[in-house]
Amino acid sequence: MTQESDCLFCRIARGEIPATIVYQRDGITAFRDIAPQAPTHVLLIPDRHISGAAAATDADDAALGRLIRTAAELARQEGIADSGYRLIINQGPDAGQTVPHLHVHLLGGKLLPTPLA
Ligand code: AMP
Repeated sequence: MTQESDCLFCRIARGEIPATIVYQRDGITAFRDIAPQAPTHVLLIPDRHISGAAAATDADDAALGRLIRTAAELARQEGIADSGYRLIINQGPDAGQTVPHLHVHLLGGKLLPTPLA
């Protein structure tokens, strides 16, 4: 199991690995995805290590709420609030979760494919 000490996203939040950080406040860090799937592709994470949606507990409720509200704020900042955007949380192998630290993808800036596949 990935521990905080070697978790990629924990290390980005601590500033140990470079990333284009667009927001860091109140236990939330947001940074640009290294392989963007859309003109805006930002990842938002709780600074506290949570391996995924399935691992969240009551204690994480406030942070999870802040993640969504911060995503909406960043969408406004990115100029995509009116055109629309998609928030995605991948959980587990079938969803393609590759980094075991809960993260919200904020995607927008183009017409996003629907359905996904
Ligand atoms: P997921 O597939 O939901 O686990 O998403 C993980 C995301 O993290 C992918 O979109 C990757 O492109 C992105 N990613 C992986 N490494 C980095 C990194 N060092 N900096 C920014 N984004 C990353």
